[in-house]
Amino acid sequence: MPSRDDLIARDRRCVIHPYAAPISTAPLFAVERAEGVRLTLTDGRELIDGTSSWWAAIHGYAHPALTAAVSDQLGRMSHVMFGGLTHEPAVALCETLVAITPEPLTRVFLADSGSVAVEVAIKLALQFFIAQGQPEKRRLISVLGGYHGDTFGAMAVTDPVNGMHHLFRGALAQHLFAAAPGPAFDAPWSPDALGSMAALLEQHAHEVAAVILEPIAQNAGGMRFYHPQYLRELRALCDRHGVLLILDEIATNFGRTGELFACQHAGVAPDIMCLGKALTGGTMTLAAALCTERVAETIAGSEPRVFMHGPTFMGNPLACSAALASIRLLLGSSWRARVAAIEAQLLRELAPCRALDAVADVRVLGAIGVVELKQPVDMARVQPAFVERGVWLRPFGKLVYTMPPYIIEPADLSRISEAIVGVLSEV
Ligand SMILES: *Cc1c(COP(=O)(O)O)cnc(C)c1O
Repeated sequence: MPSRDDLIARDRRCVIHPYAAPISTAPLFAVERAEGVRLTLTDGRELIDGTSSWWAAIHGYAHPALTAAVSDQLGRMSHVMFGGLTHEPAVALCETLVAITPEPLTRVFLADSGSVAVEVAIKLALQFFIAQGQPEKRRLISVLGGYHGDTFGAMAVTDPVNGMHHLFRGALAQHLFAAAPGPAFDAPWSPDALGSMAALLEQHAHEVAAVILEPIAQNAGGMRFYHPQYLRELRALCDRHGVLLILDEIATNFGRTGELFACQHAGVAPDIMCLGKALTGGTMTLAAALCTERVAETIAGSEPRVFMHGPTFMGNPLACSAALASIRLLLGSSWRARVAAIEAQLLRELAPCRALDAVADVRVLGAIGVVELKQPVDMARVQPAFVERGVWLRPFGKLVYTMPPYIIEPADLSRISEAIVGVLSEV
């Protein structure tokens, strides 16, 4: 068995990590195994996972039901192309997604990652208006503080500052940005909250295909939770102006905010919805874009009639089987009570952070706990400090946050909260 130092030294010679310098000496930890809520490092240390590996591993790691689903499918067929062919795992998954998402969504495009699902959503919206003879409607309205992925189309609707749009000038589509949605989830409603959105729609609806945003919780763009009334009024505004509504549920989907889909806090259904991250319970990469019958019919009804997208690994049977198993597991569990219990415990246990000098705000929604600092964290110091305390968290910028697997036991969640309070007391 190569030692941990060997592995990290080998990594440093050729591997590029996400949002990291391509040649880097940033702290790096080698994982040997992952089971339940625990990551075991190659040096034998165990870390309690507070991230669900970026929202995905909602049932924890190596869940026997997910492992069995993937290995059963592996014995039959690991992959076939999806052009002209179909198979049970993909059909059953699409039927399930149509059944559990808001009613008007009837058609599913399976994509290989969240960013691709966002590209597909944007393309559906553009093709909808092309098919209607309104090809000039090809811009999007997004909101500040949003995050939609790293491919160019998705980046172009991500917050322009966080997404460093200035670096890619000329290569990115120029879209329109309204103020970040508000007020906060539990703040009193403010009737002028949609002022800048309404003004943009008023002025630009003739050239806008869709509004795209994350429902209720803005995630990687700032971990902010906004008022459900915002979505209700936005839905009405989109309808009034003949603009589609795309909701990106990739981070919020499958119960994370306390509802199965975050848009259900508002009772709002989009024209197009993106799913991802927790879709396979963290087992494999898979995402989806769903649309209404109206969008599908319109695109199918006029030239070129086809939808212009088709990834090589579309509808991968292993990923579809994992997703089906994950959704069955979730819906068969008491996820709502678990998420509510995590919310109550995080509210209680992160509250002491409010008294710390370094802390600007503490907020919790569903199984998401966020401590916002006044200054960006020093990752080179903070990341190893969390590992020392036996937890895995991945802060960014001014945000230290946790979105643990739903199966986490209260004692393990307390270890995460204590580590956050402890480490932030020292910075
Ligand atoms: C993570 C994320 C994406 C991008 O998904 P990838 O699988 O990383 O491409 C898009 N939208 C939201 C809201 C996300 O959180």
